[in-house]
Amino acid sequence: MAARDDSAANTPGLWQVAVGDELLEGRTADTNSRRVQLALGGGVRARGIVVVPDRAEAVAAGLDGSRPGELVVITGGLGSTPDDLTREMVAAWAGVPLTTDARLQAELEARGRARGIADVAWAKRQAQMPAGLEPLTNRVGSAPALVGPLRDRTVVMLPGVPAELEGLLPDVVAWLRRRGVVPPPAPARLWRTAQRAELALVRSCEPVRERYPDLDWSWWLTRWGVDVRIAAAPAAPPPALARLDAAAAELEQRIGATTFARAPEELNVVVQEALLARGATLAVAESCTAGLLGAAVTEAAGSSEVFLGGVICYADAVKRDQLGVPEDLLYKRGAVSEAVARALAAGCRERCGSTHALAITGIAGPGGGSAEKPVGTTWIALATPAALFARCHRFPSNRSHNRRLAVATALDVLRRALVAPAGREPWLSEDTWARSEGG
Ligand code: ATP
Ligand code: MG
Repeated sequence: MAARDDSAANTPGLWQVAVGDELLEGRTADTNSRRVQLALGGGVRARGIVVVPDRAEAVAAGLDGSRPGELVVITGGLGSTPDDLTREMVAAWAGVPLTTDARLQAELEARGRARGIADVAWAKRQAQMPAGLEPLTNRVGSAPALVGPLRDRTVVMLPGVPAELEGLLPDVVAWLRRRGVVPPPAPARLWRTAQRAELALVRSCEPVRERYPDLDWSWWLTRWGVDVRIAAAPAAPPPALARLDAAAAELEQRIGATTFARAPEELNVVVQEALLARGATLAVAESCTAGLLGAAVTEAAGSSEVFLGGVICYADAVKRDQLGVPEDLLYKRGAVSEAVARALAAGCRERCGSTHALAITGIAGPGGGSAEKPVGTTWIALATPAALFARCHRFPSNRSHNRRLAVATALDVLRRALVAPAGREPWLSEDTWARSEGG
């Protein structure tokens, strides 16, 4: 349990209860609580998150941690199987009966029959709710969100399945805003950065933060790098907004160069848009990432407009036979070398017929490192119509994270090349990972 006391703040407190044995035992990470917080957009003071097992007394104890006036969000256990008991547990905690929403039941039954499901008995359970709450329709799955007042709190119950929760959140947030439970989003600025370790980025922000301690500062790790957000108080007066703008301008000077988006946009989408805008296409040659880069690119809908394909060239023979890397380069320089990275990118661009090609060849670990090429050593090369770039990175982490860093770095390098004037080096002025102090 993580709790923070913010009783002095006049924004509503948020108390979250994540229900599920699998969360408590570490089989599943609690990503839902984070999504709830992001959706609420800083309009609340997160006061605590409790993860509890699927047992009535544990759920009640978790709910007891909330205070009157707070927003209480409970996730998980809203399915129709016998182990899904959150409705009953919340009703018992609030001292109210369960009621059945007949219209919702009929709607769920009709939806089930339309999908060819003969036995729609589950619909009855999913139409039940603690008296006083109302349902919000779930378009992804069946269990609705349940919202309303209970015990002087505003209670929100959400299904555990992340895709369902995500689908419901916009409606839940709109409902909370309509009732004034949650203020309009706080004025805020966001920088989504890649290629720098968290500590290094935080240090870059530090002088600005010292001048603007009145703003709300946050940093968090993402799959691409680190996000930085500064926010004024919700409904801040004009002078506070002017300070937000001033701080943003100063921060832009310090971290703008490593920023790929200033809105909640993903790096793969930004890259896709940059390729599309220039009529460019991409192919990939992946050794140590073995398809992760191609997968990341094609996660973005519409990727077929810009992505041609590539080669998973794990073995030297594939680098040689499929991408034309000369045998002697592989032999003399090694597969993880500048010469091979360049040859991979050039060969990939030529054989796939793309305008741009990225190549990744590195030592992800844990084995395979040497004094000269320690684990994390990764060459990334980019072939463009105008030039061939290559850079050695020394990623500081374990196998899976090093591979993810390689993907994020390659995409960011491509982005920088696309937005930079022709021929200019797309790299940062230095490999920031080599000197990164953790983070
Ligand atoms: P279902 O109808 O599938 O039973 P449910 O509302 O009852 O949905 P759970 O049974 O608690 O939800 O969980 C369903 C799935 O969602 C499980 O795979 C679970 O691991 C996942 N899940 C539940 N809570 C969380 C959470 N806080 N973060 C991420 N995943 C979660
Ligand atoms: Mg369930």
